[in-house]
Amino acid sequence: MYAAVIYGPHDVRYEQRADPVIQAPTDAIVRTVAACVCGSDLWRYRGIADVPEPTPIGHEYVGVVEEVGRAVATVRVGDLVVGGFRTSDNTCAVCRAGMQTNCPHGTGYDGCQAELIRVQNADGTLVAAPGTPDDALIPSILALSDVMCTGWHAAISAGVTRGSTVAVVGDGAVGLCGVLASRELGAQRIIAMSRHPDRQAVARSFGATDVVVERGDEGAARVLDLTGGLGADAVLECVGTVDSVTQALQSARAGGMVGWVGVPHVREIPQQHMFWRNVGLRGGPAPVRAYLDDLLGRVLDGRIEPGKVFDLTLPLRDVAEAYAAMDERRAIKTLLTP
Ligand SMILES: [Zn+2]
Repeated sequence: MYAAVIYGPHDVRYEQRADPVIQAPTDAIVRTVAACVCGSDLWRYRGIADVPEPTPIGHEYVGVVEEVGRAVATVRVGDLVVGGFRTSDNTCAVCRAGMQTNCPHGTGYDGCQAELIRVQNADGTLVAAPGTPDDALIPSILALSDVMCTGWHAAISAGVTRGSTVAVVGDGAVGLCGVLASRELGAQRIIAMSRHPDRQAVARSFGATDVVVERGDEGAARVLDLTGGLGADAVLECVGTVDSVTQALQSARAGGMVGWVGVPHVREIPQQHMFWRNVGLRGGPAPVRAYLDDLLGRVLDGRIEPGKVFDLTLPLRDVAEAYAAMDERRAIKTLLTP
């Protein structure tokens, strides 16, 4: 098969690799229908995170089950399936508590920007779409693999509920999905922080009621202006830098909560914006499996269309260009087809 392998900064190659095989009875092999590049993949692409050796890359996929181990019971050969960016058994105490990302039996993948993927813990990870979904739904089903569930997790972590005022820091795919999640959870007012007209347009179509173009202290001040000087009930932090976390904490009202899901590259939490204002910080890598059934239902019903975050589609063989386009902000998110 062919797959993407990252060698180092600005060096992702499309290479031939050995086909994955069933290694444990709980494994499945999935033939990729679509995969994509994640904002978090760019940390390595930009040299911010190390690449000690050539490494298969990618953790988002939708595909068709090609083979299952003998213990796999819930998905069958031929099913169209989606799974989260980590596998989980979905039976242990941590999974039952809804934190499948932290499953002690969980695993990652040996690269999902690939024609074939070995999915460990298949029963606890994969969800099959009923019937044969329309091709037009594939991007939105793919978005459930990470960004939509991550935006959802930001909103859940921040306590978004009916009537909430929400501010969303970050206008990448996750931030945009956070806007959509807030709308679905009944937020009354959703302030998207974005300077890019194309992203503002997606944010508005996902339910943003206000757009703030300022950043940092000025951005937080604008959120206070828009909320009668109080700040937002819930703030979704979808970037992961010290500046964005600080901006998020400053945008929350006293007693508010920041849901943070941007992979944090923050050495010290700016606690001066937390303690004296009773502002909380909660979140982490999204437990995709916890949200997958609900959100897949919303996609199949046509209620949500998170696939709108993909604004570039390329064949997998052009994966290097997929990374370059996102790195240079020519694309919000690139969908890859084998
Ligand atoms: Zn578990």
